[in-house]
Amino acid sequence: MNDINSLLIPKQIIRSNRKSISLIVNKSGELIVRAPLFCKDKLIFDFINKKAKWIIAKKSELAKNDKYSPLTFTKEETIYIIGKPYKIVLLPIKRVKLKDDEIFVPNLNPMMSLKNWLIKLAKVHVTNMVAEYSKKYNLKYTSISITSARTRWGSCSYKNHLNFTYRLVMCPQAVIEYIVIHELCHTLEKNHSKQFWNRVESLCPDYKMCEKWLKDNRRIMDVI
Ligand SMILES: [Zn+2]
Repeated sequence: MNDINSLLIPKQIIRSNRKSISLIVNKSGELIVRAPLFCKDKLIFDFINKKAKWIIAKKSELAKNDKYSPLTFTKEETIYIIGKPYKIVLLPIKRVKLKDDEIFVPNLNPMMSLKNWLIKLAKVHVTNMVAEYSKKYNLKYTSISITSARTRWGSCSYKNHLNFTYRLVMCPQAVIEYIVIHELCHTLEKNHSKQFWNRVESLCPDYKMCEKWLKDNRRIMDVI
């Protein structure tokens, strides 16, 4: 069902006392048409064909976001780990294991197993990176915690205690680095002043690209 014609088949044509035809691609990616009561089918399909480019763009945009649907472990799914996609394979095993472009997950309680594995990975990967950058740029922090936050990637307390959500390990490496640098810079400045951003930029020149990635990929937070 991926050829162009199938993308243009409306899920529903709703006729009502209206004057013009309108098209909606709903959240499920279905094309819904609203048309006047006695509008001929041919007119409707001509209109759809005229808007084909818009419909296809709208649907592919939705499909792109779909890669960050919450995991259900009931169908073929993918998870990103340090920016790389891995196909999830459920197996009767005890521990999560990566192999090539697959991730093997215990079929008994896969959600918890995978979540715990991500937390462990974050504890190693993010903690090491914080230690490295802290030393490299002489930015001192008090302690570090890996949290399950869903609304923020990281934070820095008044006493320079750093928090990072385990979900960070699903982002590309450059983005993880940026978040680490961002929070480390907060050890010197507890605000988002011009001076703060200048400091971030001096240590992470591509930070704007990372911010954009985070904005565009916000839904990665909801995966698990
Ligand atoms: Zn900040």
